[in-house]
Amino acid sequence: MTISYVIPVYNEEKGFKKFFDKLLMPEIKKTKLDYEVILVNDGSSDKSLEILQKIAETDKHVKVISFSRNFGKEVSLTAGVREATGDAIITIDADGQQPPALIHEFIEKWQEKDVDIVIGVRGKYEKHGLIAKLGSKLFYKMLGMMGVKDTVPGSTDFRLLDRAFVDEFNKLTEHDRITRGLMDWMGFKKVYIDYIYGNRLAGKPSYNFKKLFRLAVDSFVSLSTTPLVVFMWLGLIITLGSGVIGLFDLIEEELLGDPLGLGWNSMVRICIFITFLVGLVLISQGITSLYISHIYSEAQNRPLYIIDKKRSRNLKKKDK
Ligand code: UDP
Ligand code: MG
Repeated sequence: MTISYVIPVYNEEKGFKKFFDKLLMPEIKKTKLDYEVILVNDGSSDKSLEILQKIAETDKHVKVISFSRNFGKEVSLTAGVREATGDAIITIDADGQQPPALIHEFIEKWQEKDVDIVIGVRGKYEKHGLIAKLGSKLFYKMLGMMGVKDTVPGSTDFRLLDRAFVDEFNKLTEHDRITRGLMDWMGFKKVYIDYIYGNRLAGKPSYNFKKLFRLAVDSFVSLSTTPLVVFMWLGLIITLGSGVIGLFDLIEEELLGDPLGLGWNSMVRICIFITFLVGLVLISQGITSLYISHIYSEAQNRPLYIIDKKRSRNLKKKDK
């Protein structure tokens, strides 16, 4: 049995060697299983690539994929997972924040429980500021509202993936991807392992607020079309609201002669009318969005369903 280790690397020259030699390799050796390591250099601008290549020269189990430029962690993870040939694939960060000491636990859970994914979850043992807490609560709440109900708050990319799961994952084609979200969307049998997200060995995290925000937006947009429809509802509410007020004005003043003494003037009426029109514009935009959302999901070309091959029997061996 072979385990593949996939590690995305972006500007990690300061800490990588230590991570690899002192933290990762001893743990891999302890498992006593065959292994391969796939290091994905995500367009680093420092000396990371040279370090990776040196490691690959001395250890034939190590493969290096090097990108032409920085594509982001989501894509580098995907490339590594596609290249992996093992019976299970473990994805782990290069900075030491996800403790390799837990690798054997991931493998044990996978073997004992007949599951397809083992997911590392952070947070249970950590203290967070109020804003970070609220932010992540909101994130998962919104994911839930958008139909991705299967995501446990705090799930990270520190994962073990069964071969059967990876074969299906590799068929997903979208470009703006958030790996975790896609994996959770796929279903299959999962178990979770709580861990403490450690400190970086060296260097700085490359995710800043801007990147994180983009990631959040990407994950909503790529997982669901709900944001497009929100404006249609807003438009409906505005149009209905101003329509009702306009009607009320008409009846109250023109038909009944303003018994409430509200004294509608033309300025107010113009405002109501403009609001009414704005609502109409939003509605029509929302309808256009519906069409776009259909085009979008067609263009994404996600598979309509995903077969759990490991648990199916006697299927035609058509697709590999
Ligand atoms: N990473 C990458 N491409 C990027 C940014 C990060 O491959 O554009 C790698 C990075 O080298 C590390 C992992 O992804 O192994 C997580 O990155 P980071 O530590 O910056 O993020 P955080 O710990 O905040 O999740
Ligand atoms: Mg990190």
